[in-house]
Amino acid sequence: MGDGIRLLTRKAEVREFVAQARSRGERIGLVPTMGAIHQGHQSLVRRAIECGAGTVIASVFVNPTQFSPTEDFDAYPRTLEADLAAMEEAGAAAVFAPSVAEMYGEALVESMRVHGLTSFGFLSHAVAGSAARLWEGERRPTHFDGVTMVVSKLFNIVGPDVACFGEKDFQQLAVLRQMVADMDFDLEVVGCPIVREEDGLAVSSRNRYMDDAQRERALALSRSLREAREAFAAGQRDVGALVSGIRATLEAERLDIDYAEIVDASTLEPLDSLEGIDGADARAILAARVDNTVRLIDNASLA
Ligand code: AMP
Repeated sequence: MGDGIRLLTRKAEVREFVAQARSRGERIGLVPTMGAIHQGHQSLVRRAIECGAGTVIASVFVNPTQFSPTEDFDAYPRTLEADLAAMEEAGAAAVFAPSVAEMYGEALVESMRVHGLTSFGFLSHAVAGSAARLWEGERRPTHFDGVTMVVSKLFNIVGPDVACFGEKDFQQLAVLRQMVADMDFDLEVVGCPIVREEDGLAVSSRNRYMDDAQRERALALSRSLREAREAFAAGQRDVGALVSGIRATLEAERLDIDYAEIVDASTLEPLDSLEGIDGADARAILAARVDNTVRLIDNASLA
């Protein structure tokens, strides 16, 4: 690049930018984000480069179709200048930050305003099966429709060879892997480990919603997962006991639990038993609210 990171706001500019990179023989990496860029997002860019992407495009788009009317779409942090600097530091060649109208067209923006629609029954139910139906899908019924819609559009706009997603959103990663398989997208989906603060809190754009005391209590999420891993390593194979332990740790900090489960790492179906199961195939997943301020998710392999 040499002359700094490029900001692209139009789909046509992205296509042109990608065509130029391809003419230099480069592989293309895509890192979709909603901005408020942090070390977690930066790790995805670095991973895309490690996977051979000579040109990495990060998208920064607070996607209205994945928020329900009661969620934080308006409040979601928008920090494009800082995002550009952080993405440049990580090694991205360009940031694609379209307006909602550029992404979806005026008609859709208008219909969302008029009807309050945030989603329209798209790919997630058609293709992603149980991975989209359970857990987050149950609590946020239109969420994965919005996610699969925007990510499939990004795949069509950018045409990446490799797309990196964080295990932080473990269910989203499973849904998108399934979508790519079901819809024959010709690209590699790479799942990347959760980046954590030193004290264990999973880095998230939503952490800024918490004050110091709430943040301290939120450490129970990662602590409960660590305890579950330790118990599994010590031979605990009783799912009920592991889940009770997680719940007790969360409840001790007065967190409201949305769900806390041990699931099959590929189908996300709950596991009844861990006898004979490799810890790497089992995932502890959880979602909890800190007061009514913020809803946090976290997960960990039992291995
Ligand atoms: P978001 O901007 O929150 O939609 O996240 C964009 C991408 O970054 C998703 O693939 C997330 O899973 C990933 N991500 C967010 N936080 C982290 C983290 N702490 N570690 C790794 N990946 C993350």
